[in-house]
Amino acid sequence: MAKIQMTTPIVEMDGDEMTRVLWQWIKDILITPYVDLKTEYYDLGLPNRDKTDDQVTIDSAEANKKYGVAVKCATITPNAQRVSEYNLKKMWKSPNGTIRRILDGTVFRAPILCKGITPYVPGWKKPITLARHAYGDIYNSVEERVAEGEQAYIVVTDKDGNELRRQLVHSFRDSAGIVQGVHNVDKSITSFARSCFNYALEQKLPMYFAAKDTISKTYDHRFKDIFNDLYEAEYKDKFEKAGIWFMYTLIDDVVARVVRSEGGILWACKNYDGDVMSDMVATAYGSLGMMSSVLVSPDGNYEYEAAHGTVTRHYYKYLKGEETSTNSVATIFAWTGALRKRGELDGNAELQSFAEKLEQATIATIESGEMTGDLIPLFHSEGITPVKLNSKEFLYAIAKRL
Ligand code: NAP
Ligand code: MG
Repeated sequence: MAKIQMTTPIVEMDGDEMTRVLWQWIKDILITPYVDLKTEYYDLGLPNRDKTDDQVTIDSAEANKKYGVAVKCATITPNAQRVSEYNLKKMWKSPNGTIRRILDGTVFRAPILCKGITPYVPGWKKPITLARHAYGDIYNSVEERVAEGEQAYIVVTDKDGNELRRQLVHSFRDSAGIVQGVHNVDKSITSFARSCFNYALEQKLPMYFAAKDTISKTYDHRFKDIFNDLYEAEYKDKFEKAGIWFMYTLIDDVVARVVRSEGGILWACKNYDGDVMSDMVATAYGSLGMMSSVLVSPDGNYEYEAAHGTVTRHYYKYLKGEETSTNSVATIFAWTGALRKRGELDGNAELQSFAEKLEQATIATIESGEMTGDLIPLFHSEGITPVKLNSKEFLYAIAKRL
């Protein structure tokens, strides 16, 4: 069989631990036998990030901007324990954070659905895609403890520091307490809104965005205005033509609407709402191993990855020569996402169709009862007793169908 040809490389960002092991196996068993794979390879494994003083992460993000499409393996974000485990020069920053900053991107997370694995919310028939604004609010806040008798103000100055305005936050007359200063910037909110509208159009998903503008009449109201104004000015016609809609509503209202919905929507969230709700949605759909993730920049660059981490516990078993049953579905879908997008951009129908077939083969394998251990307790399908496969057997079972 002649291999499928590619014209433009995909930026390949390798990673750490168990997902690094799966990465190589996925390529060897499911991709390179069929595709003459062209990638520009960056090793984002922790040892190489340390060796290059993290320059490799920056270079890979720049390559993502140059070529448009990247696929990323899960990577370790070092903490103190990792610094000693890997004997690191420094506690390097999260690679995902670095790439997100360089691309100014928004992360969209969507579950991969299979028959037999029923969400905890049985009404959800289609995926709910969640987008989280990854800048500002309490994640870039300043906080103080305030003693009894003290007062706290918001003070705004001009660029030279001369006071322009001042508001009392609270006079702590009767009790000590706490105070918090949060901010956001129009530019970041606008980029976020634009990424969400573009993604909704591309995926043909109706879209909600919610805040609490009835209570937060300046701060949250600014989010509401930016979304509504951009929608009216640039997206309303396109949405109507695509047969989808956008709705701004209150956060508590949207929570109720999402639970009652069938899914099949894009839910754009402020930073904190997205932090909390992405874990709720992911758990309700079943397993972390079945959650895909894509970083989209407002100017149309894409980085595909799995939503889970490097599955450290399984890696240590693997190193001891023990068998693991690690779910590779989200990592396979990161590859198919990147291959399909590359195919779309290059007008390469064969590559797009290959991505489609690999996804179908993966889902069909699970639906027929062959899966990794994490899915066994979740799987209920009449007449099928699920069989637990190890990490590699699962990939071969997919290859057989492919
Ligand atoms: P994790 O790697 O997502 O794993 C947490 C647990 O979830 C695993 O121990 C496993 O449970 C289960 N799990 C996750 N993915 C699975 C899969 N594909 N198949 C089967 N089970 C799966 O999270 P973590 O242990 O908190 O983090 C490990 C490392 O990953 C950390 O160094 C962190 O910095 C990094 N991380 C990276 C990213 C990223 O690059 N995007 C994201 C998150 C975390 P059982 O052990 O019960 O089987
Ligand atoms: Mg969270």
